Amino acid sequence: MQAKKTKADLTDNQLLRYNRQIVLPEIDINGQNLLSNAKIAIIGLGGLGCPAATYLVSSGIGTMLLVDHDDVSLSNLNRQTLFTETDIDKRKVDAAKQRLLKFNSEVSVNTKYIKIDKDFNDRFIKTYDIIIDCTDNFETRTIINQIALLNKIPLITGAALKFEGQVALFRNDLDTAPCYRCLYPDLPATSGSCVDTGILGSVAGFVGTVLANECIKFICNFGNNFDSKLFLIDLKNNDFKTIKINKDKKCVHCE
Ligand SMILES: [Zn+2]
Repeated sequence: MQAKKTKADLTDNQLLRYNRQIVLPEIDINGQNLLSNAKIAIIGLGGLGCPAATYLVSSGIGTMLLVDHDDVSLSNLNRQTLFTETDIDKRKVDAAKQRLLKFNSEVSVNTKYIKIDKDFNDRFIKTYDIIIDCTDNFETRTIINQIALLNKIPLITGAALKFEGQVALFRNDLDTAPCYRCLYPDLPATSGSCVDTGILGSVAGFVGTVLANECIKFICNFGNNFDSKLFLIDLKNNDFKTIKINKDKKCVHCE
């Protein structure tokens, strides 16, 4: 993404803090600089957004935007690992920011206490390099897909329910790549959410961690990623599959 940088760009403290990942040849100094220059928007601070934000902040992401319109409730605490009992009734974005800065005070964390709907103003998201969609319903995901397409921003999307999860990377910055609506052309009128279907916290943690991992690989440009692929996770039966996502020539969003 950016030009190669030298060791001098990182302080001694940063070299020490990120040492265990810098020694990985795939990351190295250059990758650490790419991470520290990256601007990531995480939408949804639930069971997926909490672990994704934690690992990205700990890895030394430069700037993170947190978007959510909810407050912390007791029933969040089985999986939303950024929050504690003393955070109940606080805005998730505020409690999450406070916790994330304790993990890594060098990261710049911005917040928006706002609901993503069709009137959403995407002005403040334009400058971000990657959007990670950690929301929990099809309607919001399709709006985020449109925002990412309009602003040509790559979109990493995750979902988790019961013991299962999905992760995909959509290159909404490229005209040739499939988008989220290519995968789901017909949206269900109502979709299941963890409120009535349930979810195990550790399953959300697994999927959220895969989201962070994909984001780091994408920024540092190594490994195989889930670009135009859907990673299907079944943690009850330990069954993992990856299927290709094709571009839909009749897609209502990207064609
Ligand atoms: Zn599409």
